[in-house]
Amino acid sequence: MGFDDGRKLSGVCAVEVLHRKQVTPHMMRVTFGGEDLKRLPQHGFDQWFRLFLPRPDGKATNFDAVPDKLRTLDYLKYLTHGDRPPLRNYTVREHRPDLGEIDVDFVVHGDLGIAGPWAATAEPGERLVIMDQGKGFDLHPDAGFHLLVGDESALPAILGILRDLPRGVRGLALIEIPEMADVQEVSGPAGFEVRWLPREDSSVLPGSLALAELKAFQPETPAELSAYLVGERTIPTGGRRHLVALGVPKSQITFVGYWRLGKAQA
Ligand SMILES: Cc1cc2nc3c(=O)[nH]c(=O)nc-3n(C[C@H](O)[C@H](O)[C@H](O)COP(=O)(O)OP(=O)(O)OC[C@H]3O[C@@H](n4cnc5c(N)ncnc54)[C@H](O)[C@@H]3O)c2cc1C
Repeated sequence: MGFDDGRKLSGVCAVEVLHRKQVTPHMMRVTFGGEDLKRLPQHGFDQWFRLFLPRPDGKATNFDAVPDKLRTLDYLKYLTHGDRPPLRNYTVREHRPDLGEIDVDFVVHGDLGIAGPWAATAEPGERLVIMDQGKGFDLHPDAGFHLLVGDESALPAILGILRDLPRGVRGLALIEIPEMADVQEVSGPAGFEVRWLPREDSSVLPGSLALAELKAFQPETPAELSAYLVGERTIPTGGRRHLVALGVPKSQITFVGYWRLGKAQA
């Protein structure tokens, strides 16, 4: 599986908030700009990055504490800075290299946490730092069928993969969202079905609809299936277990827990 892309840009990019726009009830799009973004490679698909945010306590944030790389030792050193910026992971929703701009879609999930609440009120001119991580999606060109499964946090990744997949591939995308109004426009291969799964009711556990739909799906030829499972951690863990039991080769399953219900990212 991917998620450690050797072609990522080394070093950090200083970025500035240009504007923010509510795209659906639970999704806030923040556009970042800056000269550094003109040298950000365009990996496409689910290109992701580390985002270093202003401290939520209003105290001064030491962006100089951000290392050029995030190997284990660099990370441990970064943790020693009491005034370091908090770190979260996000996906490039759209990239305009000529303009030095990226759009990032943040799930707005209430008052808890740092990145979601920050995005809900981000103001033009705010300065942050990002670190390119390349892409996580591995294209298996010989796969007969592609399965993409995720929740709203995975929406930018899945829509980016659909946008960049070769037009001739066949597949199914299962995308769980809070409500039907969170649907976004899709530009994908004609042979791809996109199934939206709105929870609608807050008593429905995030990830449960996507996982149930995945379990109801019967691949014609498991050995030829390629799967990408991301989002609330029950999707990748439960989904992978299920597909492996059906006979899908482990090497053809990309799976990553994006977040965990009731637990803040460290
Ligand atoms: C490679 C990668 C790419 C990602 N790309 C995106 C992206 O493009 N857009 C995006 O919105 N997220 C994305 N995520 C997920 C995002 O990093 C997490 O949701 C992160 O925890 C949000 O940080 P926070 O500070 O808002 O909340 P945290 O401080 O981490 O958590 C605080 C509370 O909020 C809850 N929470 C966290 N995330 C969510 C959520 N999405 N929905 C509901 N409750 C939540 C937690 O369970 C916890 O109780 C990505 C994750 C990875 C690993």
